[in-house]
Amino acid sequence: MFSSLKEQPADKILQLMQLFKEDPRDTKIDLGVGVYKNAEGVTPVMRAVKAAEKRIWEEQTTKSYVGLPGDPEFGDAMVSLVLGDSVDRGQVAAAATPGGTGAVRQAFELIRMANPDARVFVSNPTWPNHVSILKYLGMPMVEYRYFDNETGGVDFDGMMADLEGVKKGDIVLLHGCCHNPTGANLNITEWQAVVDLLNRTGAIPMIDIAYQGFGDGLEEDAAATRLVASSVPETLIAASCSKNFGVYRERTGILMAVSQDAGLNKLTQGSLNYLNRQNYSFPPDHGARVVSTILHDPQLRADWAAELEDVRLSMLGLREQLAGELQRLSGSDRFAFLAQHRGMFSRLGTSPEMVERLRAEHAIYMVGDSRMNIAGLNKTTVPILAKAIIDVGI
Ligand code: PMP
Repeated sequence: MFSSLKEQPADKILQLMQLFKEDPRDTKIDLGVGVYKNAEGVTPVMRAVKAAEKRIWEEQTTKSYVGLPGDPEFGDAMVSLVLGDSVDRGQVAAAATPGGTGAVRQAFELIRMANPDARVFVSNPTWPNHVSILKYLGMPMVEYRYFDNETGGVDFDGMMADLEGVKKGDIVLLHGCCHNPTGANLNITEWQAVVDLLNRTGAIPMIDIAYQGFGDGLEEDAAATRLVASSVPETLIAASCSKNFGVYRERTGILMAVSQDAGLNKLTQGSLNYLNRQNYSFPPDHGARVVSTILHDPQLRADWAAELEDVRLSMLGLREQLAGELQRLSGSDRFAFLAQHRGMFSRLGTSPEMVERLRAEHAIYMVGDSRMNIAGLNKTTVPILAKAIIDVGI
């Protein structure tokens, strides 16, 4: 049986990580994989996470199963973190999942279960795993224009023109903030136009929010998600705690389904529970318990928010430094978009050949589509990157 398995395509980012590891040059810079790194290149355990883990270790008396949707306190805390008071808690069905990826996967399965004909509209580009999971599930997918390589911003006219092609019941997948891989985001007026289009067409939004707190701040980054959830009949939200709590390997995420018809909530919650049961029964609990411990404790929460804010500001500082260096070296503003982008990533908007030259000639590693992890930089390496970008003629 095993011999009939097909070779699966290698994950490009993981391949890049391997190449980086094998590169003997000590000047090498890794802008590839999507984890936050501090100036020393370390992905730290956040202070509040350590404190919460200590408390859990001291106080936890059982490792027995949690419920199918996970610990309700985690659900409540996350609904409140993401949605604030934009909707009533009673309008939201929620289930913990293994990471944001788990939430995305369960959301797609819920869509397929409810409406096998629904097409999922995804931005071009989007996080590659969106595309890969949709293909794996055999779900119809349509791309909409998103990134303008010339301006480094969102091609909003192109996006809206393509979204005019949605039909009632189709799904529009949107990044709540800090678009991965481009770093380019809609402003709130543009979000309102998307809401109007959704309401006019009857298409349903699915929001993937994996970087709340990495862009403009915890509340600011949730503003678009809250606007959508409070304005359209139904919204799906896949949220990840991997980045903003730094609990990547603990696999902590949540899927929320918001409806304006409270009567649908029980039905939706039942379906989320059912899907958890079919795929892994009970969701992982450790990361969820850490998150919920932090969010329910005012002191831990304040310390977490302060550390997250430091992380956000450090990335913003690196963006500004990079845009400034490039302006100085190129004598033009054509890289100013790097300071406008938000989140961990920026798409440079150059060709795979140029990306390869940066790797071969300067030992700078970024993903082939020219996505850079800004957190892979520090104050010393920013000028090196800027010079390399100009040297290869981007
Ligand atoms: N969505 C997006 C857009 C992401 O960038 C990521 C992380 N790379 C995820 C979801 C899921 O992350 P995780 O499963 O690690 O929580």
